[in-house]
Amino acid sequence: MTRQSLDAPPDALAVASLSDVGRMRSVNEDSCDSFVGADGARLLVVADGMGGHRGGATASREAVAAIGRVFVERPVEDPGSTLAQAIDEANAHVFALAQSDPELAGMGTTVVALLVDGAGRAAVAHVGDSRCYRWRSGRLEALTVDHSVVAEMLRRGVLTAEEAAFHPRRNEILRSVGVLPEVESEVAPIGLEPGDWLLLCSDGLCGVVSDAEIELVLARARSAERAVEDLVALANESGGPDNVTVQILAVGAGWRPAGSRPTSPNRSAAPAASPKSGPTPGSAHRGPFAPASDPDAATPSAPAGSAWRTSPAWVALLALLVALAWWLLGTR
Ligand code: CA
Repeated sequence: MTRQSLDAPPDALAVASLSDVGRMRSVNEDSCDSFVGADGARLLVVADGMGGHRGGATASREAVAAIGRVFVERPVEDPGSTLAQAIDEANAHVFALAQSDPELAGMGTTVVALLVDGAGRAAVAHVGDSRCYRWRSGRLEALTVDHSVVAEMLRRGVLTAEEAAFHPRRNEILRSVGVLPEVESEVAPIGLEPGDWLLLCSDGLCGVVSDAEIELVLARARSAERAVEDLVALANESGGPDNVTVQILAVGAGWRPAGSRPTSPNRSAAPAASPKSGPTPGSAHRGPFAPASDPDAATPSAPAGSAWRTSPAWVALLALLVALAWWLLGTR
């Protein structure tokens, strides 16, 4: 069992990670790591390797390290572009290793990675069936759709969700890192709000524990560190058929990205987000209450303080109070 955690104050981002071999396997072929950039940017990566002998563990470990290198060595201009580039380079690296050693031939790995830059812009990228979820206001929402045979059948309406959970082909993935000279990763911008938890996991968790059960564990856990322990324990209590890896990025309730303005953003002046638009270049000053680059996020309510300070209702009330005081003085 490998553990990594980082306690942080409520105005910061905190990471908790746990990877466990499970109850049935002798080798843990999952890998995970998290990285911190100079400007407070964060990268979390989970990878689930496959390939006989030492291939699986090597593929996942090398992919995570290669993605981390790109993040650490180069400035992040756009989180989505950095993730796509990092996965491309991880693919080339793992593929080259597999070609160079017969014992590693054919190895590959899934990848799911989350990047939050110093200005609070975030993106998630994945290849295969490792997942990213967002837990907000007590509700769990999957931010990735598996690149798998079963997910494709679900999308086409050939299977129901219940049938998919026990389908004999549920472990077959359609894309992986390092098996072919090139790979297509799926990248999406996401919105972060104070209090959000982002959960990355291998299928040793989400293939064994239902989304409803994950939601329940998160609701009960007092900390992200406790949540990753409880989730791994639940996968193992359910038989632990696979390696299980869970990472959580907890966004503190008082979190503000370093690049955000000290005052609340003027929402009426911000350009409206088009439903299918990607991340907006140069939008580094967007505050946490206006994740306009997130196509999935529900429109968040404006912070109450800033709305009242400038609203016509507030001005009218003030005028009424002044008039009342004037009238009271006049009647003496
Ligand atoms: Ca697995």
